[in-house]
Amino acid sequence: MTPPPAIDAVDIHKSFGATRAVAGASLTVAPGSLVALLGPSGSGKTTMLRVIAGFEVPDAGSVHIGGREVAGPDAWVEPEHRRIGMVFQEGALFPHLTVAKNVGFGGADAARIDECLTLVGLADRRASYPHELSGGERQRVALARALAPRPDVILLDEPFASLDAGLRSTLREEVARILRDAGASALLVTHDQQEALSLADLVTVMQAGRVVQAGTPREVYDRPRTRWLAEFLGEAEVLAGTAADGVVDCELGRLATDPAHRGPVEVVVRPESIVLGPTGGGPGAVVGRVVARSYYGHDQVVQVELGSGRRVRSRSTGAEPWEVGDEVAVRVDRPVATVAPDPDGPTAGATAGPTAGSTDGPSGPSVGPATGDAA
Ligand code: ATP
Repeated sequence: MTPPPAIDAVDIHKSFGATRAVAGASLTVAPGSLVALLGPSGSGKTTMLRVIAGFEVPDAGSVHIGGREVAGPDAWVEPEHRRIGMVFQEGALFPHLTVAKNVGFGGADAARIDECLTLVGLADRRASYPHELSGGERQRVALARALAPRPDVILLDEPFASLDAGLRSTLREEVARILRDAGASALLVTHDQQEALSLADLVTVMQAGRVVQAGTPREVYDRPRTRWLAEFLGEAEVLAGTAADGVVDCELGRLATDPAHRGPVEVVVRPESIVLGPTGGGPGAVVGRVVARSYYGHDQVVQVELGSGRRVRSRSTGAEPWEVGDEVAVRVDRPVATVAPDPDGPTAGATAGPTAGSTDGPSGPSVGPATGDAA
């Protein structure tokens, strides 16, 4: 028999006065997996986490943890009895207790405390006090404390937000490794797209209290369901197009896309799939002129103006010596996503970038590469 999901939250609603913090959101965490709950500020992530933890009573919907109903029309289990471990932004350790006593606070015995401290690489700091540790070490102790009672699920609320950038990236990889080594099921709340895409097995994206899309990092990035999501997850050039039979015609030419789409669409092209080359590619080649170039060492972004005056960005390794004024052939080297046209925004000449304040877009057709790996 397949084990039940570690978390199954279904159609959760939660308002605070007139504010609809969560408006019918569902999410699932499979056993042993790490799911990121990603969204801009105010999208309802923390409220969703607090409903799952039992710190908020949902107005409607149900929550099962490890197959047991903990919140629902006829069920309520107090947070301390939900078999969850929590890690907050600030580790919230007891300052007057040693590392070992902090980890053992939930009742773990000495052997389990040692096991968890070894897992987080801090076995030699068991007698230290929290103020003697760095911020990253304190978060690892907080994680050991959350893991010690062997909970059904670990909930992490922006656990790296208070750390500086360098430490944050090291620690988040470390935490993902620890969770995997422990076989833990975990839900990580974050507003950081890179964090969600790089760490999680699945990403659930919230916008305005709803789940816009849930999928693997590659699915949500390569096949975003809405324009808002495409732009929230990374750089995107969004062009008007017409789709039919697995291809879409737009200013960048005839591109492969999901065969399910027909008619007017918006075409989402990532700058890293826009490739520049020498002109002379024959009839049909899209030609543009280089208007700006930003060199970042590991890569570069070249801005190219197309015939219509529309500018698109091409991100590449930086080896190509394009200069402002060069005429170049512009090619898209992989299938693109298409989404339903956004009634609120013209596509031509649109600038890319997060549009965190935008309202719910239409839930467009699901999109995807016509070929290639979508997994
Ligand atoms: P952030 O990343 O900024 O923490 P979030 O996605 O976690 O944002 P929530 O904290 O869940 O979003 O908040 C969603 C909405 O609900 C916001 O408009 C917020 O102001 C509101 N809200 C959350 N908690 C309360 C509360 N206790 N009382 C009143 N309004 C609340």
